[in-house]
Amino acid sequence: MDTKRQLKKQVLKVLEGARAGRIRFSFPVGDRLLTIGRQAFLSVAQAIRKDKITIYEAPYGQNGSSARYMYYNEIQISQIVNSMDESDAVHESLHAYFDLKKIAIPAIEEEAAAYVVSTMYLIMAKIPQKQWNIEPHATAGLLSHLVMAEQKAHPKKTPVVNQDAWDNLLWILKKDPIYDKVKSYTHDG
Ligand SMILES: [Zn+2]
Repeated sequence: MDTKRQLKKQVLKVLEGARAGRIRFSFPVGDRLLTIGRQAFLSVAQAIRKDKITIYEAPYGQNGSSARYMYYNEIQISQIVNSMDESDAVHESLHAYFDLKKIAIPAIEEEAAAYVVSTMYLIMAKIPQKQWNIEPHATAGLLSHLVMAEQKAHPKKTPVVNQDAWDNLLWILKKDPIYDKVKSYTHDG
């Protein structure tokens, strides 16, 4: 199997897997709440299967992450060898989801949601926090632990992010020169 097909298979396994399936939370955008759940990852997986979204083999992305979403309908991935890589793939898949579903959302909120997703994945994969305890993952981690505690306490409800933790995460991202430049990602489906 060539690398591209191998990567595609691995990404599908992650998106359709149990960990991605347990990610569930809502967050505020303006005066409404957006909900991220299993369906988001399954719809990206389906788009990948139909080649509406392509997996492209690429060098390392920003911040040493192994994946990135720079061009519409294309997830770039350098490798998937461990749970850190898998969490990057889930993060970029959420950008792909907002694009696919044409969801209007400011870039900072989109980035924050993507960091919550990848951080929840890292926690579920039991990757010791000392391995990812740098920003913005550290702040996303505080928020993710609160979301996961809510999930545990109310298994049938979708937890809404803690407002203070969410505001902190937005603030951390706004300070980051990488994310401050981006006003909005592509959302053209
Ligand atoms: Zn991102």
